[in-house]
Amino acid sequence: MTTDNAGILDTLATRLGERGVLRAEEEVSRYLRDWAGDELGTPLAVVRPRNTAEVADTVKLCHEHNLRVVPQGGHTGLVGGAFPDRDQDELIISLERMNRIRDLDPVNFSMTVDAGCILEAVKQAADAEDCDFPLSLGAQGSCQIGGNVATNAGGLNVLRHGMMRELVLGLEVVLPNGEIWDGLTALHKDNRGYDIAQLFLGSEGTLGIVTGAVLKLVPKPEQTRTAMLGLPSVTSVIELYSLARRGCSDLLSAFELIPRRCIELAMEASPQLSDPMDEAYPWYVLMEVSATGPVDLGEMLEQLLESGMEKALVLDGALASSEAQSQHLWQFRESMLEGQRQRGKHLRTDVSVPISAIPAFVDRADAMVTEVSPDSTVIAYGHVGDGNLHFNILPPPSLSDEDKHTLLHDLEQRLFAILDDFRGSISAEHGIGRTKQAAYLTRLSPTERELLQGIKSLFDPHGIMSRGRILPE
Ligand SMILES: Cc1cc2nc3c(=O)[nH]c(=O)nc-3n(C[C@H](O)[C@H](O)[C@H](O)COP(=O)(O)OP(=O)(O)OC[C@H]3O[C@@H](n4cnc5c(N)ncnc54)[C@H](O)[C@@H]3O)c2cc1C
Repeated sequence: MTTDNAGILDTLATRLGERGVLRAEEEVSRYLRDWAGDELGTPLAVVRPRNTAEVADTVKLCHEHNLRVVPQGGHTGLVGGAFPDRDQDELIISLERMNRIRDLDPVNFSMTVDAGCILEAVKQAADAEDCDFPLSLGAQGSCQIGGNVATNAGGLNVLRHGMMRELVLGLEVVLPNGEIWDGLTALHKDNRGYDIAQLFLGSEGTLGIVTGAVLKLVPKPEQTRTAMLGLPSVTSVIELYSLARRGCSDLLSAFELIPRRCIELAMEASPQLSDPMDEAYPWYVLMEVSATGPVDLGEMLEQLLESGMEKALVLDGALASSEAQSQHLWQFRESMLEGQRQRGKHLRTDVSVPISAIPAFVDRADAMVTEVSPDSTVIAYGHVGDGNLHFNILPPPSLSDEDKHTLLHDLEQRLFAILDDFRGSISAEHGIGRTKQAAYLTRLSPTERELLQGIKSLFDPHGIMSRGRILPE
């Protein structure tokens, strides 16, 4: 560490208190590990401000000394954006101590929160006021609202409520020069010129540090019904989706595609789970409808199931008749992620194509994997109600780590080339960060690149914030 940097950290410790600046190796180690367990770098230190003024103060000092910073939330992001370089020249600014619910207005259906609030805590606070904050994802017990804004998080209910972009009314952001931009409006309708707040949605910490957000709430659903269905093919899954979108009065809140292999992975990871139906089926759909008011959701689901069976789209189904049964069905969705993680290194993708193109895309991608590496295992699952698929690939376990790496890289490139033919997205949900950067950059037109670089240099002319994420250094 340079004397200059040590001096900056001393100044910060004086302003934020000793607990506000962590430098010892054993103290910073937990900020370097993401959910997948990869250690990605070594920070100069971890700064933990308690409020917006302390974030601004910290960033201003870093700006004056050209010191690089990276904001960090719950470190559940999956593209390596929240982690420092190995050069020990980047300061992590963790929002974990900023976790206050500032205000909740159940009549305006909005709440204002610190960016370090854990998503689960926000959902609970909304629930206590008979409201719902409808962002739901597997990492909600750890991820923070600031991270959700920065990654434009999606999750299970996007098909009904949209991504984070649609769930934010206003933001408060510390800009890379340390200035605070107060855009904390709670307006549902506001058409004044360019929408500055939206620029931060999905900006992955490259344009500023989100310190507060006004979130859009919806009425808390009074009833929810969940079903797990067995289907013969991906084509029948998409036909059923179309039927469900029309037949469920637009009350469909989740529609997840799960292959048989993932049911097995879930049962491996959580041995208390047993097969959801008497027989095994090649594909499953986990779906949910929810509503307020006098609607008979049970009847609605049964009719959908009947109609799906008549058309030979659905082979069998399990309808949850209690909250406990519903949770049991959702456990398959959660445990299969753990089962996948336990299989070690694999290709994780997060792609999207138009919903109607999913069967053709899966067919082509499957055929490609069979041709290139017949011993690899494809696990394609996802929020198909939004056209979003995790087309993941487990390499043959017998390969060395190096060979696995080479194979997975090759398969990823081939997969993305197929995606290009569908005008699909290489990142439907998790963002670009560092891990998707190369594939992202090669797909940008010169015009797009110029516009993006212009935005970055307008906000961050010294390039101190999250350097090397999304755009190159
Ligand atoms: C089991 C599991 C399931 C998941 N499921 C989904 C899913 O369904 N949908 C989905 O979209 N994602 C999903 N994710 C990915 C992840 O949870 C989201 O990207 C989440 O929004 C990240 O939030 P975080 O607080 O953990 O951010 P971090 O991982 O800490 O950071 C992510 C990025 O945001 C930046 N950042 C963090 N906080 C701020 C801030 N306050 N201001 C500015 N920039 C900031 C970081 O610098 C980094 O670039 C999943 C992850 C896991 C592990």
